[in-house]
Amino acid sequence: QQITGPVSLSVSHVSFTYPESNKGVLSNVDLQINPGDKLAILGRSGSGKSTLAHLLRGDLTPTDGSVKINSIDVAEFGDDISNYIGVIHQNPYLFNTSILNNVRLGRESATEDEVWHVLERVGLKSLIQSMPDGLNTLVDEAGLRFSGGERHRLALARILLKEVPIILLDEPTVGLDPITEQHLLDTFFTQLTGKTIIWITHHLQGIDLMDQVVFIEDGQIEMSGSPAEL
Ligand code: ATP
Ligand code: MG
Repeated sequence: QQITGPVSLSVSHVSFTYPESNKGVLSNVDLQINPGDKLAILGRSGSGKSTLAHLLRGDLTPTDGSVKINSIDVAEFGDDISNYIGVIHQNPYLFNTSILNNVRLGRESATEDEVWHVLERVGLKSLIQSMPDGLNTLVDEAGLRFSGGERHRLALARILLKEVPIILLDEPTVGLDPITEQHLLDTFFTQLTGKTIIWITHHLQGIDLMDQVVFIEDGQIEMSGSPAEL
């Protein structure tokens, strides 16, 4: 499946129960996410937010209902889904290779200049320039050479290089101190202008940057509106 032009996501009557469980996690969820929307999904721990994120990318299949990209079921995209929906998780995954390869994972044909450019956009250029091996510096899998906020910036650089239309942020700032969190959110939102952003969070900081907020509780959408209305 391939799409050109604006990309919308539609969640219709989605319910989900994990196979080895007898308790439903999501029940009859409806969401329409249009190109350029900035949507926050708020909910307590265990309310089903990450499950919803996996359903949006087709990593999980709804027990009932459907998730579609421009009226095509997400399942039909297979691995190509990563061309349409980029995701940044709480613990961004880094690979045991150079910084260059870690960023270029988004688009292997990218030049070093393009990689430096996205690193500059996420605020990591001078840090990496200061490392003796520069872009060829090796990253261990745990990414121990980087702080939590820096790992998220690398994940963002990877996504910027790939130029996907929809960015899914699953609590990307959990575990960071409030100032680092605010800086990171500012970087996300200035660098992702014009993209669709779905931001999963369990607290209200930064929520005023979004157009729409939905609350999810006990697997259902309880309330939605603009940040000012809530
Ligand atoms: P948090 O804010 O802590 O990240 P969340 O809102 O993202 O929570 P989910 O991870 O979607 O919540 O989990 C929702 C419910 O589904 C929880 O009760 C969880 O225990 C259950 N769950 C999650 N993953 C699985 C799984 N693989 N198998 C069975 N149950 C699961
Ligand atoms: Mg979660």
